[in-house]
Amino acid sequence: MGVPETEPLDVGRIRADFPILDREFGGSQLVYLDNAATTHTPEPVVETITDYYRGYNANVHRGIHHLSQEASIAYEEAHDRVAEFIGAVGREEIVFTKNTTEGVNLVAYAWGLNELGPGDEVVMTEMEHHASLVTWQQIAKKTGAEVKYIPIDEQGTLDMDAAAELITDDTAMVSVIHASNTLGTVNPVSEIADLAHDHDAYVFVDAAQSVPNRPVDVQELGADFLAFSGHKMCGPTGIGVLYGRESVLEEMEPYLYGGDMILKVTYEDATWNELPWKFEAGTPNICEGIALAAACDYLDEIGMERIQKHEERLAQYAYDELTAMDDVEVYGPPGDQRGGLVAFNLESVHAHDLSSIVNDYAVAIRAGDHCTQPLHDKLGVAASARASFYIYNTREEVDKLVAAVDEARQLFA
Ligand code: PMP
Repeated sequence: MGVPETEPLDVGRIRADFPILDREFGGSQLVYLDNAATTHTPEPVVETITDYYRGYNANVHRGIHHLSQEASIAYEEAHDRVAEFIGAVGREEIVFTKNTTEGVNLVAYAWGLNELGPGDEVVMTEMEHHASLVTWQQIAKKTGAEVKYIPIDEQGTLDMDAAAELITDDTAMVSVIHASNTLGTVNPVSEIADLAHDHDAYVFVDAAQSVPNRPVDVQELGADFLAFSGHKMCGPTGIGVLYGRESVLEEMEPYLYGGDMILKVTYEDATWNELPWKFEAGTPNICEGIALAAACDYLDEIGMERIQKHEERLAQYAYDELTAMDDVEVYGPPGDQRGGLVAFNLESVHAHDLSSIVNDYAVAIRAGDHCTQPLHDKLGVAASARASFYIYNTREEVDKLVAAVDEARQLFA
């Protein structure tokens, strides 16, 4: 109320909504810095889940009894809430999926398998997550289409001159990650979308690491498709979103067949339900969908611009502190040009050993390839450690991470 969107967050108040953060391990309070993998669930969202099971659990769209009507209305309105959250026209453009991965598979199978063929090209970036990379790679193999990658430069930013050359009239789909889950790079999606649309290609945006922590507007980005996961934005697991431009979704074949997605069925044939239900076959994740809408409410109340600023400040601080150690390598662009995460390696200590030592101090970070194996190959490392921040993290927690990394260096010195 009256607070400028860029004012710092009241982290103390936010943390009170996340009792899990009070957990202690070996006498140390948990420092949770694995938010790019999964964020925690605030009390209002947990309450939404318990309210559903205690008060109006029923299957949707099928019954005319009171409970089914209540569940159906809440589930359908959750689509409206998500549409509003990302600037979509309405519920007809919002398909609830299991996660980001299912979103890209839906487009790859329902659109790609039917539309791609020899001579067509799918353009991605070298920093794609396996969710997109493997899916388009395999659909291209099935259809005879070719896959091309926009290269990254030394700083982990996209070579836009190369993008302009790679995207041609042969391009059918440009699939681009909005914010990299490894480099922290935030890509110029609307510029890429302009290039794609100049050549009548569609644009798929992997927004798994952007919708949770910055304002995202599908119209401004110029996305034809955009996917993200509820569990990375204060929502539960088992729910994700595929946004699709209405005119494109209308033309697409269904992905899964079965109940609920049909209009009329005979022994010989079937016709399809209206959007978005044409793409939601069978009983959906009703409670999780309703809880995702509650997560949107929670984040909007804090303010997406403030969340973005908060994360960027923490990432910049972590970047500065880690790069100050001369045996630490941080991947991706400089601290003032990245989203809220930092992937790094400590010279001569494997990322898994590092994360294990850090875990002794109750600091939770991730180690591995972060589902970007080709990118790690390009960086010349098998794995990296990654700290990723969210609304409840503090500078003091970054200090604890840095102190734990320092302990690890001394142990291996
Ligand atoms: N894309 C990006 C950028 C991600 O960070 C992730 C999660 N690590 C995914 C896709 C896949 O998300 P999910 O596992 O929820 O499908």
